[in-house]
Amino acid sequence: MIKQKIVLRFPPHIVEQPTIYHLIKDFDLMVNILRADINPKKEGRLMMELSGSEANYQRAVEWLNEQGLQILNLEQQIIWRSDLCTHCGACTVICPTEALMFERPEMKVHFAEEKCIVCELCLRACPARAMETLVENANFQ
Ligand code: SF4
Ligand code: SF4
Repeated sequence: MIKQKIVLRFPPHIVEQPTIYHLIKDFDLMVNILRADINPKKEGRLMMELSGSEANYQRAVEWLNEQGLQILNLEQQIIWRSDLCTHCGACTVICPTEALMFERPEMKVHFAEEKCIVCELCLRACPARAMETLVENANFQ
């Protein structure tokens, strides 16, 4: 089983193709779209998390390359700065996946990175600026 966050860049001639459908139907992958961006020239960019068997994932990557899509792996996306965190709990209220939660009995906030879907709600909610974005390899504009 593999779970990988990637960015797909669609050239204009591919942007209207049912790429996501093929990833699900032909490669049995689960697709969680984190962000989508289509610019006026109709180039597209999708940030998503793919999960499924490693063999299917590798086959899907080969297929995407054959289709002419640019694929970039995203490494760590959201950083929790424990040194800045005051454990106020504001982020735990808005985090949709419970990636940020109070741990009992200490009542200290804990960040479970594997649950994070990179919605960035915590970045805006955190008064101490303890949540940061780090997008490695995604600077392809
Ligand atoms: S980015 Fe979203 S899912 Fe991830 S920790 Fe922040 S609020 Fe939770
Ligand atoms: S909102 Fe910021 S300071 Fe408050 S608990 Fe969450 S990460 Fe820590």
